[in-house]
Parts: sequence; C-alpha cells; structure tokens
Amino acid sequence: MPKKNNPAPVTIIGGGLAGTEATYQLVRRGIPVKLFEMRPRVETGAHQTDLLGELVCSNSLGSNLPDRASGLLKEELRAFGSYILDTAYKYRVPAGNALAVDRDAFAREITRYVKGHSMVEFVNEEATDIPEEGLVIVASGPLTSKRLLDHLVKRFGQKSLSFFDAIAPIVEAESIDMTRAYRGDRYSLEPKGDYINCPMTREEYETFVDALLKAKKIDLPAFEKEAKKKFFSACQPVEQIAASGREALRFGPLKPVGLVDPVSKHRSYAVLQLRQDNLLSSLYNLVGCQTNLVHGEQERVFRLIPALRNAKFVRLGQMHRNSYLYSPKFLTTTLQVKDHPNWFLAGQITGVEGYTESTGTGLLAGLNAARITLGKTLVDPPPATMLGALLRYITFPGHKQFTPMNANFGLFGDDKAETADDRRAAIITEARRAFRAYFQEL
Ligand SMILES: Cc1cc2nc3c(=O)[nH]c(=O)nc-3n(C[C@H](O)[C@H](O)[C@H](O)COP(=O)(O)OP(=O)(O)OC[C@H]3O[C@@H](n4cnc5c(N)ncnc54)[C@H](O)[C@@H]3O)c2cc1C
Repeated sequence: MPKKNNPAPVTIIGGGLAGTEATYQLVRRGIPVKLFEMRPRVETGAHQTDLLGELVCSNSLGSNLPDRASGLLKEELRAFGSYILDTAYKYRVPAGNALAVDRDAFAREITRYVKGHSMVEFVNEEATDIPEEGLVIVASGPLTSKRLLDHLVKRFGQKSLSFFDAIAPIVEAESIDMTRAYRGDRYSLEPKGDYINCPMTREEYETFVDALLKAKKIDLPAFEKEAKKKFFSACQPVEQIAASGREALRFGPLKPVGLVDPVSKHRSYAVLQLRQDNLLSSLYNLVGCQTNLVHGEQERVFRLIPALRNAKFVRLGQMHRNSYLYSPKFLTTTLQVKDHPNWFLAGQITGVEGYTESTGTGLLAGLNAARITLGKTLVDPPPATMLGALLRYITFPGHKQFTPMNANFGLFGDDKAETADDRRAAIITEARRAFRAYFQEL
C-alpha cells in the first residue's frame, strides 16, 4: 500500500490533454508524477510542436452554452477543478458560444506549468510498455506510438480499433479579403460578431464544389478504402462531404442559416465561417474544412472562395488514423483496468472523442489515482451526469459496434418528454441534480 506521507510517484504516459490534466490533479494533492512524453523525439505526424497539451486540429473545445451537452460536461469538469478548462478560459479567443483558445498560448502555459512543477519528473522518451510497478495512467491519445499500441493490444487481448480524422487549414487574417467577407455570429442580432463569414453565390458555390470533387487527394493506398468507411461523423473531410451530394456542404459546414450579409441584406447561398485561432487575432481557421487534398490543391481550391482569393495559408489540412482500445472488455467506470486496478486509462484511447471528453477522463483518472494513494474511495460519477454517462458508454459490454463517442444527450435513456427540447431540459435538470448530490457526498 503506498504511503500517504511520502507517496510514490504516479507514472503518466502522454503529455496531451488527458495526461496533463491528470498530472495537475495529482500534484495539487501532493502526489509526485513521472510524466513520459515522446515528442519531439518521436513525432505523431499531426502535432506540430513539442508543447504539452497541443490541440492538433480545431482550436475550439466545443459549446460553452449550459444547455448543450459539451457545456454541461464543462460545468461538471469545472466543479471538479479542471486545470485544462481553467487554462482554456484564460486564453480564450472570441468564438461566439464556443470555448475557443489561442492554441499556442494555451499549450505554452500548460508546458510551463507541468515542466516547471517541482513534483513532476518529465521524461522526454517514448514509453513502450506499461510499468508493472506502482500506479500508472496511460494517456497516449489517438496517435499512440506504434510500439506502445502493439503492447497495449497484446496486453488487453484485443485488436485495436481505429477511425480517421482530418485537420482543417489556417490562414493569416491579413490575407482575408474583408471587402468580400463580414463579421457576425450565427443567429445573433449583434451587428458585429466573432466569426468572419465568407459568403458565396450559387455560381461560386458550384465552382467550389466542382473543384473540390476534381482536386487531387493525398494518396493513401494502404488504408484509403478502409478510411472512407471509418470517419468520425463530425470530422469528415470536406471533399468527402461534397462527394455525398451537391447540396451536402450547404446543409453542412457551409450552411448559410442564421447569417445575413450586411451588404445585400440577404442570406447568401452558402457561407464559410472562419474562427479566430490566436489572441492576436492574426490567424483564422476554416471551420468544418478538414481536408485530405494534396497541399497545392488545398490552396488552389479554397482560394476559389472570393474572400480567400489571396489567402496565405499557415497550416494545411491532413488526415490521420485515430486509434482506441476496446474498453468495454477491460475497463471500469473508475477508469481502472479490471485485472490490474493500479493501471488507469484516460483520454481518447479509451473510446471517448474530443478535447473536452479527453480532458474529463484525464481528470477522473488523475483524481482516482490520487485517491488510491490517499486511501480514499474512488470517484465514479452517477450515470445521470454527463461524465457518468460517457463512462457508462465506454465500459458498456453490450455494444454491437463500439465507436468513439463525444458528450451528447443521446447517451441518456429515453424518458416521457413530448418534445426534444423538453427531453433535453429534463436531462439537464436531472444531470445537475445528480451531480450536485454526488459532489456534496464526496
Ligand atoms: C488529426 C486529429 C484531429 C482532431 N481534431 C479534433 C478537433 O478538432 N476537436 C476535438 O475536440 N478533438 C479532435 N481530435 C480528437 C481528440 O480529442 C484529440 O486528439 C485530443 O487531443 C485527445 O486527447 P488525449 O490526451 O487523449 O491525446 P493527445 O492530446 O494526443 O495526447 C497524447 C500524448 O501522448 C504522446 N504519446 C503518444 N504515444 C506515446 C508514447 N509511447 N510515449 C510517450 N508519449 C506518447 C503524444 O505525443 C501526445 O502528446 C482530433 C484528433 C486527431 C488525431
């Protein structure tokens, strides 16, 4: 049994969102951490820096509204004292109702805090297995190194599962033609807004769709066939959405609803939204435009959108395989491995999807590893809470097909509400009640 006065360090593998959140939860309770992070010695292919807590794609952590699933999850995580969310609010950039951050300032702050903490031993190495001794949290993410993934798969007796995800490009603000764009948030009555909207006429939209469909994609001979079937629905490449029907983009990422062009005073045929990507507001990302086109083609095709005709691209899109494990087989709702309770899993490797969800499981794993050390009962939020519902999902043994999941109201059982709005309101009320009661009990 670990000693309370001189606790043994907890090993954490992976300094991403889950790993750094877990680190914080431990060190704030006086428990040392040995944190393994392999970058930049071993690259993941998607991360661009050697910073901890790097956001690989969008700079948005999802909705901040209290009546949205992601907002509800944030509320619970903040009550638990989430370091990642506190840091996100500190480096927040305007993004309407979403919580978006200056990705660079956000990751720098996390890196400074974790690497500079006297109770953290930072090991810049690739972990290739799970140490048998002591408490361990595996938070190596969707881009876990091959050697470690092979080890995990062997150890947990399952083949790993995977899906594909693509990154959206980022452009310089100065290169956006504001004579062809306007500021405004969807459904907002304010004349100005956080988003830059790039309207398109029908003809411009058709030209853009034609170019997207004909553009050359990055050749992925080994897995493209498989990839086509296995995209996470919220992250499909824009060219793949376009291929599903000529109107698909207009009803998807380029939907014009809730936006009125201040010049024409009408709704445009289609609109691409750009979201601020840093505090200086010198960079903007193309919302919903994850892509796997070859790089030259990305520039050419996106420049067909009038406001982007002179756009300077600072980052281009690419596609990645996301791996996760078959958690229902071996994980508990406290995030412990059933036959080895000193081992925890956290982050996207567990089968949750998204920045906030990964942070949430990191928080719980860190908290529970701390509570084992301190001889306290483990935290296991009830199923009526958003975090509890996610944990039930990733550990539920009866899935026909286990696919990654983000926070959403579909995770809760049916009730008798007559409308979708009533149902959502009932879930939120019950989630808040259950969370408050559980939290007070803790
Ligand atoms: C291409 C792509 C785009 C995505 N876009 C979004 C998005 O827009 N919005 C969203 O909400 N979610 C997105 N996700 C999903 C996911 O929520 C994020 O990847 C999130 O960062 C996962 O958090 P994590 O802590 O589990 O993993 P990560 O944040 O990836 O952290 C894992 C860390 O472990 C390190 N590591 C891996 N293997 C080893 C090893 N063997 N030894 C030591 N260190 C190791 C990695 O270098 C990394 O730093 C995306 C994922 C991918 C792959």
